[in-house]
Amino acid sequence: MSEKELLLMCEEYTLRTHEYNRPPILWRGRGQYLWDVNGKEYLDMGSGQMCATLGHNHPWVVEAIKKSCDELLHSSSVHAPAKSIELASRIGHLVSPPLKVSMFLSTGSEANEAALNIAKKYTGGYEGATFHISYHGRTAMTRTISPSLTHKGYGPLIPGIFTMPGPYCYRCPIKLTFPDCESICLDVGFEMLDRWAMGPVAAVFAEPIFGAAGIIEAPSGYFKRLKKKCEERGILLVLDEMQTAFGRCGAMFAYEQEEIVPDILTLSKTMGGGIAISSVTTSDEIKHVIMNRGFFHSSTHAFDPLPSYVALAVVDAVEKDNLIQKSKEIGNYLKAGFKELAQRHLIIGDIRGRGLLQGIELVKDRGTKEPAEEEANAVYWRCIEKGLMTRTVGMPASHCVINFCPPFYVTQKEIDIALNILDEVLSEVEKNIYA
Ligand code: PMP
Repeated sequence: MSEKELLLMCEEYTLRTHEYNRPPILWRGRGQYLWDVNGKEYLDMGSGQMCATLGHNHPWVVEAIKKSCDELLHSSSVHAPAKSIELASRIGHLVSPPLKVSMFLSTGSEANEAALNIAKKYTGGYEGATFHISYHGRTAMTRTISPSLTHKGYGPLIPGIFTMPGPYCYRCPIKLTFPDCESICLDVGFEMLDRWAMGPVAAVFAEPIFGAAGIIEAPSGYFKRLKKKCEERGILLVLDEMQTAFGRCGAMFAYEQEEIVPDILTLSKTMGGGIAISSVTTSDEIKHVIMNRGFFHSSTHAFDPLPSYVALAVVDAVEKDNLIQKSKEIGNYLKAGFKELAQRHLIIGDIRGRGLLQGIELVKDRGTKEPAEEEANAVYWRCIEKGLMTRTVGMPASHCVINFCPPFYVTQKEIDIALNILDEVLSEVEKNIYA
């Protein structure tokens, strides 16, 4: 079928929230590359929807799917199948104590829903808190803990969720500067939370790198202070590592880099190599308390074998191919490349992230930091024309961050190719600003 026919069918028969009905229509993928139905090649710096960390159709992922086809694709969620038990044990050994036990679900939103339910049962509270730069999903509850999204037309949000100012230092919501500010946003947030809460607060949700809001890293020591504030109040800290785990940021889990251990860890994207799976991991102690209180949470595809085969293959690859080290090395190379571009392109206002999760924030003016949203959009589409897939992220009104999160096997040469295309495109786009 031709691209034209597919675009017409897409217009007529799909319900997609991305309003663009324009090429490329993707058809095939291998490693860092995608091809559209016309055979045009794209270097994918976005790992699909950030998930294909081993690259597209990695042979071990394909092998794992085939093995599942030979053995067992789906089973009753009442009886945990062999591969899912194996995966739970593997994760139980990877995470830091007291984290140990896992539940497997399908999507990230589902995992965060389950995390709040666990926290509610454990603490006896129903309230929760989040940050203004958080993104945790689009179901009713996870939308509520995702203030970085636009909510127009989806209200009311669920009751009992409080929003605190997050550590977006480049655009500080209270206009202070780190380190002089001593992260006072955290003290203010918790002081307000204490005044607002009706009863025990069940959970605080955060991402070690706030991804969707613009690859925002908290300043040094922030997460340690956050964990302490939660502990002082008996609040469970839920870390959502859907974008950051399994080596992407240069450690198996990004919480290790912050020298904390969350009470509940939620995983998805980087776990499944492109196949839908998510998990919620917590401690034995929390498990026993909530079980005694009658905790029940499941879904049709909970503990399904197929995604467990794949997740085990992903963990194998991360360990056997030394991908954590690779993520660090290539990540440093990428960061150096972004810094070099920033010397020549005034549109680059900030460079953030680590390992293979990095972004550059585009601004019209480095002094005023006016977000270059239209320009970021133009960069995205012009890169596609030149055969480069990136991602644009950011909050409404500052959706101006170009994100690179390539598969682990990306080479320095491929990073050079991507940065050269970006260089050319930034020059083109800048001409319109500085004309
Ligand atoms: N948390 C984070 C950090 C995410 O990036 C995402 C997906 N973008 C989600 C939660 C929601 O996952 P899903 O779309 O699979 O529900």
